[in-house]
Amino acid sequence: MAIKAKKIDNSVCSQCRRASEKLFLKGDKCFSPNCLMVKRNTVPGQHGNAKQPRRPTSYGLQLREKQKAKQIYGLREKQFSNYVAKSTKKKGNTADSLLKALETRLDNVVFRLGFVKSRAAGRQLVSHGHVLVDGKKVNISSYQVKTNQVVTVASKFVEKSKLMENIFAVLSKKELPTWLALDSDLNTKKVGGKVLGLPKLTEMTLEFDPKKIIEFYSR
Ligand code: SF4
Repeated sequence: MAIKAKKIDNSVCSQCRRASEKLFLKGDKCFSPNCLMVKRNTVPGQHGNAKQPRRPTSYGLQLREKQKAKQIYGLREKQFSNYVAKSTKKKGNTADSLLKALETRLDNVVFRLGFVKSRAAGRQLVSHGHVLVDGKKVNISSYQVKTNQVVTVASKFVEKSKLMENIFAVLSKKELPTWLALDSDLNTKKVGGKVLGLPKLTEMTLEFDPKKIIEFYSR
């Protein structure tokens, strides 16, 4: 099934305006002057920023971080709280386990590798069956990739889709997190990447604070 470029949907951008910060949900648009946080940085709604913002409580701050992370990864409350519950049961640092679980989702890995411009596009790419893990088609966005696995975009999709037209130029400039490496080849039209290890909280720059999220669910 072909993936079509979607019409710009400002309702996604209103999530950033509500959070009063960029959540980078729309790919290239987030880095352009058309970003709504650049054009119109007010709280959505009739009264916008007319009211003085109240100082957030510690509960409010924790809630905000949780909402941000949910929006960034495109998850519903139930899915998100399941990740937290599973991370709590693991040995070691819970915030670190949560980050690993979120970051190793296949839709996120496809995004982090630079094959698509947003996690939402990554989800579409995976669910439409255009992504292979170790050579086998995987169409479950929440699939957790493991160390040493190789993630590739199906060659037919690379050859035929407009979304892949400039992919090799894009990948040549892509900065990757330390736990991922590209495994792509212009000559064979291979668009792929390898999972070198697992992400670590101390090595990642995030738009949310996982520790506050754990505090939120530990109340
Ligand atoms: Fe929209 Fe991206 Fe800007 Fe957020 S950062 S307002 S999603 S364009």
